Amino acid sequence: MQRYLFGFVIGAAALGWLLAQIDGSGSLAETMSLLKTLFLSVLKMVVAPLVFFSLLAGILRLRAAAELTRLSTVTLIYYLCTTAIAVSLGLVAVFWIHPWSAVPPPAELAATTAAFTAEDAAFTQAQSFTGLLAALVGRMFVNPFAALAELNILGIVVGGVVLGLALLLALPKESRVPAAIDEITVAVYRIAGWAVMLVPLGVLAIVYQMSTSSGAQLLQGLGAFVVLVVAVTLGHGLVVLPLIAWLAGGRNPVAFARHAGRAFVVALSTSSSAATLPVTFQAAQSLRVGRTTASFVLPLGATINMDGTALFEGIAAVFLAYLFGIELGPLATATVFLLAMMSSIGAPGIPSGSMAAMQMVLLAVGIPLEGIAVLLLVERPLDAVRTAVNVEGDLVGSLVATRFAGTR
Ligand code: ASP
Repeated sequence: MQRYLFGFVIGAAALGWLLAQIDGSGSLAETMSLLKTLFLSVLKMVVAPLVFFSLLAGILRLRAAAELTRLSTVTLIYYLCTTAIAVSLGLVAVFWIHPWSAVPPPAELAATTAAFTAEDAAFTQAQSFTGLLAALVGRMFVNPFAALAELNILGIVVGGVVLGLALLLALPKESRVPAAIDEITVAVYRIAGWAVMLVPLGVLAIVYQMSTSSGAQLLQGLGAFVVLVVAVTLGHGLVVLPLIAWLAGGRNPVAFARHAGRAFVVALSTSSSAATLPVTFQAAQSLRVGRTTASFVLPLGATINMDGTALFEGIAAVFLAYLFGIELGPLATATVFLLAMMSSIGAPGIPSGSMAAMQMVLLAVGIPLEGIAVLLLVERPLDAVRTAVNVEGDLVGSLVATRFAGTR
């Protein structure tokens, strides 16, 4: 399915470029503009419930985890720390290197931005630190219904987390509410799947508009983006995680790679941590991780621990901000950091699972959703590489949990 979708996207992009070259009358341009509006409106329709319910379901899943206190504490600390390291690595690399800055951002993309950021003017223009903080607090603590209606992502995230924690503490053990929320989340994912069907058309329309004037610049920038993402992801996968496996998990990197190799190959070819799970279990077994530990750490990791995804989202947000002419100040960068972590936790371990959750990072700092279409052009290879690192992070987590939680 994923391969067909990818083929569609590339085909749509090529067709868009071709049509842009031959449209003389301009009526095609109007049709494309209509298609683009349809695509972006549908995306915006899904994103609020998607963020809210996937976050809520994710937090309620911790109920089961709470029963294994020591193991879950070690595992969650490991997941949060390595995800934070991954996003930091991505953000440091992107601010330090930013290879695309030699390519000027296409002017018409920056024009699209104006409409999106107008509403966030107070947020982006506040000068003093307390002014920024006040703007941030004003967007975080709002009536949750208003946040959902206005697509205020920070407000939705805060509302979801507060309600999730309250439910976690207040519900009796036998409550059916978590299961019901899980089921609603499945339905919301289904709706998101329908929205995804519009992707080829949306990409066709957006690439059509871009290629009327900015095609070459965009491609150059995208090339630099791909190289940077792959390099930093490999840095995390080949240096940081093996080092943690060695120092905190007691496994030397060569032995680790030998046992985990097959899981990496499957992750690379399926682009899904969830689909790779059976092979990840085998790898954990051959690394002598106990059954209790593996059966807790690995499935949880496949849903909430995604280092490669978090790192990708950080770099992608900064790249798209540049492309759309948005200046990211310290507060917006902190927002990207936090939301990249959150959305990697909320993203499902399926091919392109992060594409829907990623919208919350973009919207929170005023990047138009067209950005997703730009990312989709290079999604397939990047998804493969980041999924392999996601799976590697889970396996290293199982070693760390074995060492520190002492479960078998
Ligand atoms: N494909 C990734 C995974 O399954 C999720 C994503 O980043 O899209 O781990």
